[in-house]
Amino acid sequence: MTYSYTQIGRYLRCPRSYRYHYLDGWREKETRAAMVFGRCFENALAALFRQEDCAAALFQEWGAFRDASFEYKKGESWDRLVHQGVHLLETFARDDRVHIQNPQTDLQAKRVRTLAGGNDFVAYIDAIGELDGKRCIIDWKTSSSRYSEEPEGLLSLDPQLICYSWITGISDVAFVVFVRKHAPEIQYLRASISDQQRQEFGRLLEATVGQIEAGQFASHSGIRFPQNGCISCCHLGLCLNNQQLINSNLTRKAGASDLDWLDELVD
Ligand code: SF4
Repeated sequence: MTYSYTQIGRYLRCPRSYRYHYLDGWREKETRAAMVFGRCFENALAALFRQEDCAAALFQEWGAFRDASFEYKKGESWDRLVHQGVHLLETFARDDRVHIQNPQTDLQAKRVRTLAGGNDFVAYIDAIGELDGKRCIIDWKTSSSRYSEEPEGLLSLDPQLICYSWITGISDVAFVVFVRKHAPEIQYLRASISDQQRQEFGRLLEATVGQIEAGQFASHSGIRFPQNGCISCCHLGLCLNNQQLINSNLTRKAGASDLDWLDELVD
């Protein structure tokens, strides 16, 4: 069995959601424009590092979805997203703070580590490169609002960055956040992950895989307003037995697939 951060993260958020997705085959419909745009934008970024025309790459990638019936947030449209994207790519190139030595191997960098029970853990890291001259793991984010920078050190608690630090052994990590707001902005957020955090993550991973293999899929429902995780969960319709919600948010494929680890690429 091959595990990924996406799988483990889903299990830790709610084991029942893990079962719906990986065992029962329920999949979220791709209706959110921002999510698909984020993927197109990351492909355009890769083109930039390969010294290709990144604006043309963005138009080509995002152009494939021009007539798709996506949900756009208030004030957003296909055109607005592409213009914000081009502006962000130009700003990023002008800032010139991130360098990737070998785009062929250091973008979407695959790392595999074997766990104690013989299972593999695979990660596809957005980039391994330099931010302001210092080697680090980089995760791209596109967002319509700024990431919180306070209190200091908050980023060092991000579980995905801890996971990538664990699998590579690299302490320095960063989020590069492309903020699609009225005046587009890029945040370069750095943190350092300690040895102790990496070891703790390794233990958490082994324990989590043990629970998955023991078939423990109890629901972790959120019950407190406003931080109720169920509200943003695509499986809410299944838990509430609400057919209308199921129809609007989910499709079903026949059982889980060996290719589920490819979901890692979605993050
Ligand atoms: S709706 Fe809530 S309880 Fe149900 S799978 Fe999602 S997070 Fe878990």
